[in-house]
Amino acid sequence: MSTTQPTDLPDRTEVLVIGGGVVGCSVAYHLTRRGITDVTIIEQGELTGGTTWHAAGLVSQLKASHSLTRLATYSARLFEELEDETGQATGYRTPGSLSVAADEERWEEILRGASMATTCDVATEVIDLDRAKELFPLLNTDDLVGALYIPRDGLTSPVDTTLSLAKGAKARGARIIEGVAVEKLVAENGTVVGVETEQGYIEAETVVLATGIWSRQLAATVGVNVPLQACEHFYIVTEPLEGVERGMPTLRDPGGYTYFKEETGKIMAGFFEPRGKVWKLDGIPRDFSFGTLPEDWDHVGPIFERAVHRVPALGECGLQLFFNGPEAFTPDGVYYLGEAPEVDGCFVAAGFNSVGLQSAGGVGWVLADWIADRHSPMDLSAVDIRRAFPFQSRPDYLAERIPESLGLLYAMHWPFRQYESARNQRLSPIHDRIDAAGAVFGEVAGWERPNWFALDGQERAYEYSYGKQNWFEASGVECDAVRNAVGFFDQTCFVKFRVEGPDALIALNRICANEVDVAPGKAVYTQWCNDRGGIEADLTVTRISEDEFFVVTAAASGTRDEDWLRRGCRDRNVTVTDVTGELSMFGVMGPNSRALLSELTAADMGNDAFPFGTAQRIEVAGHDVWALRMTYVGELGWELYAPWAEANSLYEAVFAAGADHGLRHAGYHAMNTLRLEAGYRHWGHDITDEDTPLEAGLGFAVAWDKASFVGREALLVQRELPRTKRLIQFRLEDPDRLLYHDEPIYRNGDMVGRTSSGMWSYVEDRCLAMGYLNHPDGVTKDWLDTGRFEIEVATERILATASIRSFYDPRNERVRL
Ligand SMILES: Cc1cc2nc3c(=O)[nH]c(=O)nc-3n(C[C@H](O)[C@H](O)[C@H](O)COP(=O)(O)OP(=O)(O)OC[C@H]3O[C@@H](n4cnc5c(N)ncnc54)[C@H](O)[C@@H]3O)c2cc1C
Repeated sequence: MSTTQPTDLPDRTEVLVIGGGVVGCSVAYHLTRRGITDVTIIEQGELTGGTTWHAAGLVSQLKASHSLTRLATYSARLFEELEDETGQATGYRTPGSLSVAADEERWEEILRGASMATTCDVATEVIDLDRAKELFPLLNTDDLVGALYIPRDGLTSPVDTTLSLAKGAKARGARIIEGVAVEKLVAENGTVVGVETEQGYIEAETVVLATGIWSRQLAATVGVNVPLQACEHFYIVTEPLEGVERGMPTLRDPGGYTYFKEETGKIMAGFFEPRGKVWKLDGIPRDFSFGTLPEDWDHVGPIFERAVHRVPALGECGLQLFFNGPEAFTPDGVYYLGEAPEVDGCFVAAGFNSVGLQSAGGVGWVLADWIADRHSPMDLSAVDIRRAFPFQSRPDYLAERIPESLGLLYAMHWPFRQYESARNQRLSPIHDRIDAAGAVFGEVAGWERPNWFALDGQERAYEYSYGKQNWFEASGVECDAVRNAVGFFDQTCFVKFRVEGPDALIALNRICANEVDVAPGKAVYTQWCNDRGGIEADLTVTRISEDEFFVVTAAASGTRDEDWLRRGCRDRNVTVTDVTGELSMFGVMGPNSRALLSELTAADMGNDAFPFGTAQRIEVAGHDVWALRMTYVGELGWELYAPWAEANSLYEAVFAAGADHGLRHAGYHAMNTLRLEAGYRHWGHDITDEDTPLEAGLGFAVAWDKASFVGREALLVQRELPRTKRLIQFRLEDPDRLLYHDEPIYRNGDMVGRTSSGMWSYVEDRCLAMGYLNHPDGVTKDWLDTGRFEIEVATERILATASIRSFYDPRNERVRL
């Protein structure tokens, strides 16, 4: 393809896409389709010369979640149709794919994936092993327990697909410059304004980093954090093999860490070994174009043996190629998309963890919309760059974590699975005490958090399964303490902001859907909505004084919520300070919490003096503490905020007094059970930026009388319409099956929604879930009452009970005891 020569470097472009791999070309293609045609792709080498050229070409549609599956299915459709538009073939074809399992647990994982596929219109077929062998004659089925066939899964040529996208973009006006590297990004007043290249400056309104394994280092030139790291990725190609026919489906044997695909009469076998191999931690060379890495049989040998077990013909033929090329991996195994919180106008599309080709079509679509509209077109929180944290870019962290995240691609995706590497990044001041109490920790946003507390004599380790795991009993004891006595939660990881200044009220009242112009000492539960009414954040805002507020949100949403808050406070006389590292936060929750705390404070903790939804500065065991009467577990209780340095002493005092009140430590698994029983929503699962408070059943937290707040107009319109989408609670009427998320929900045999989160309830002795239902005439009580509901678990439909209100304490009376 003829591209612009370096001498033709433009002075200015509306959108500069850095990187001419499949992702950069797809972003440019989709921008031009959206009518943004002043687009320039700048590539340091040649198009496809980074990671793209050596991709195996697999285009599978099923991903870990509904939204990522939507992007992948879009890619498949696009690659199929692109040639008609551009005249450049992509090489896309649909031989389908087979996923096989050699044990029951892997089989359940595959079947659960098949159930989720139905919510995304991806057709799957559970087939018997004879049929599997018919489709892939070289397959050893001796030890298999099941096979799933996805007939429309595809294969494409990475180079041809990229060139087709580039051609489509160019036809609508995009410029493509090859052979020029961007040396650094330039920002002024927190907004990107252009880039310095090897051959001069280019001014740009928007810059997209589609720079693959180079992204972390280039982003750092403007202070943007993109924690990713190149890892080696290996495959082999055999000599021509008898029995290999064109049209054979791709074969995935995750238990054997290998995929196999037919390639002109040969077999290509690619490996996702349990621990990956990091490459070039200290920076990727600029001239690594169409580069390859040396073979490493010591590393790949044990996995190759497994591949030979699955496809024995591999052991009897010669190998034509041993390939090793780098790909970008991220600490949580999911790519990054969106506008960087550090610099306006700087967008990221990188870190594709070996699924960049199949994701590229969808990624181009949503990122182009994101750039054009300045918001994402759907819930993309799972991939949003605002989930990245600075500590994750430290080389020592990446060196430890990335090999594990590569290995997790084909490892069992156990529910509640915890990372094993690069732990202990952020510790609560009472970490050692919690540890001594038997905590089994999990990690969120780098924080070590007690997920459950081992019972006496119990091993402090997870035993994973899709059923009830080894911590179920222990977590049940914790839930019981919170429901019937009192539980202690170390919530120090929650992110806390002090928002102060003459304009603090104006700014916050514009961001918050609820009214925060309240008396000092009042705590307000609120959503932050976007102008479509979608929920960007779900948190509490407490008014401390006339012009000082205290905002508390979940650990995982900290960066995202801070970004939203700072944007909302821009151009106003407001200071936002993250005080997470200054304050510990303890939840003392349960019917005995009042009696317990009353022993430690002279303050009146009674309902009249200290009602629900208020905060007071009180002395607790001699410590100056902010006590906030709020709960995420549906019981009477207080959150105590104390200076970091005093946390240990406060903890000791609470536990010394707690013995007589049945105080127990409780962990985050218990919290999840308790909040689901009480019907409290979890941001990122049950509520996202594409769900409104009305749909989520949170209309009670909207201050309809307030003259203005972001999202008000959209919500007012929606309020007058039937509730065609609505979050509903479910109880699964089979005590042996568990729900997690994205399970299809049926009413009278028709699919009407999917679950957003699920958790075991000890009160109900069943699994509970939430999920959005859709019905064009409105999801009403009558429609619910007249329907027979089922939820599909691993392809089996199971009776479920639907309810608008929570199953536990539906009138929310216990929090006001
Ligand atoms: C062996 C192997 C097999 C794979 N198989 C599959 C598969 O079957 N299916 C699948 O979906 N995915 C697969 N992948 C992953 C897939 O190849 C990648 O995820 C995808 O190609 C990433 O595309 P990209 O555009 O983000 O990155 P790249 O293709 O690396 O493109 C980034 C570009 O940015 C350019 N660049 C970087 N820095 C600068 C700068 N400063 N100035 C200008 N230009 C710059 C680079 O030169 C490069 O061309 C595989 C990966 C490997 C390694």
